Amino acid sequence: DKRHKVTVVGSGNWGSTIGKIAAENAKEHPELFEEQVQMWVFEEEVTYEGKTEKLSHVINTHHENIKYLPNITLPTNLIANPSLEDAVQGSSILIFNLPHQFIHTTCNRLKGKIVPYARAISCIKGVDVNDEGVSLFSEWIGDGLGIYCGALSGANLATEIAQQKLSETTIAYDPPPMDNSRNPSRNATPRSATPARGEQRASAAELSVTPLADLHHRDARGRISKTRLTPVPPEYPPLDHDTFKALFQRPYFLVSMVSDVAGTSLGGALKNIVALAAGFVVGKGWGNNAKSAIMRVGLLEMIKFGKEFFGETVSTATFTKESAGVADLITSCSGGRNFNGAKLAVERGVSVQEIEQKELNGQKLQGTSTAAEVYSFLQKRGLENDYPLFTAVYDILEGRKTIDDIPAILAKAQS
Ligand code: NAD
Ligand code: 13P
Ligand code: CA
Repeated sequence: DKRHKVTVVGSGNWGSTIGKIAAENAKEHPELFEEQVQMWVFEEEVTYEGKTEKLSHVINTHHENIKYLPNITLPTNLIANPSLEDAVQGSSILIFNLPHQFIHTTCNRLKGKIVPYARAISCIKGVDVNDEGVSLFSEWIGDGLGIYCGALSGANLATEIAQQKLSETTIAYDPPPMDNSRNPSRNATPRSATPARGEQRASAAELSVTPLADLHHRDARGRISKTRLTPVPPEYPPLDHDTFKALFQRPYFLVSMVSDVAGTSLGGALKNIVALAAGFVVGKGWGNNAKSAIMRVGLLEMIKFGKEFFGETVSTATFTKESAGVADLITSCSGGRNFNGAKLAVERGVSVQEIEQKELNGQKLQGTSTAAEVYSFLQKRGLENDYPLFTAVYDILEGRKTIDDIPAILAKAQS
């Protein structure tokens, strides 16, 4: 039987951390995964012990991403690969983990280069707006590459997880049941008797009647997807919740499996806007009560946005009960880069963009572009007043409003 080859597309602060996790688990589950995990590195030159070297070479020789995840030893079976096309060749599991501004060009390069039965997980926190409306990166990747793509998101400050400090996460994965349907022996004896939370395991009878000729599936909004999926060949272990849990769960990284891809993705994207607002008020010296008020109003706008635009499938419980919701909001407003960057910008009287360029050593803030994307979407629909905090963050970034306008905005949000 075949085993899944795993590739992480991206090697920044979070990409390298997820690569470490996947490589640790690949080694522990030889029945499911090939031991070597590939990690695509956007190549650049770095200085190592006084010498100029390629980053991918440094990672493969010293097992450390000295630029984006310094002082963390990476597993020797995590292989840095500067060729995107080579890194994904033959991989049936693709983990997308790079700042969202690079995903479009990266996906375009991948078209025709991946196996058709690949499945993906997006770890990207952001949303995209185009003429048709707002879309999730899991949708963008899935539709663009003609594969199914789920989402991983949670209260996950990368460096803490790389240091193996305790954390939870949420993985949303909800493909049609066909990925098991050609493998009756496996369906007859599911490896786990208790389905993961949120999982709906199709019965053997249901699976045997799944028409393999019609492989359209419901997307994250409950619509029938235009994408025709190619089944995972029967000689592979099924790509179900158990397999993804085996790939990501560690003693220090606790995975909750759910089906709500849209809610999970939106939580991670929208909280970055709220984290900027939290940084603004703390930077002003307004303290913890002000920050909590921002978080409360921000969470309500996040839920409202999910319900209003992804209402068919988004569950409020994803925002209130899962790591990808309220817990991510809390951790991001405590010590995330968007929070810290916005706070520092206010303290120094400079723009958030200037802090990103000068202080982050190549790491990227996702809140600024997400605020712009969400604002553009709301403005086209005349809905700015329904989302006063999201709108205010963009107005402040653009210099049209100041942080001193925030109290009046919060006062309006009182019931
Ligand atoms: P990062 O902020 O460390 O970004 C730097 C990465 O971007 C580097 O790998 C760099 O090589 C790459 N890059 C630069 N230019 C590029 C180009 N032209 N094409 C492709 N890649 C290029 O990235 P990250 O922290 O790994 O973030 C990835 C995603 O994970 C983001 O959506 C982020 O919101 C999310 N996330 C981050 C954290 C965290 O704590 N860092 C936690 C959870 C989720
Ligand atoms: P930042 O990108 O603001 O650091 O947020 C990290 C994160 O998503 C924590 O869950
Ligand atoms: Ca856009």
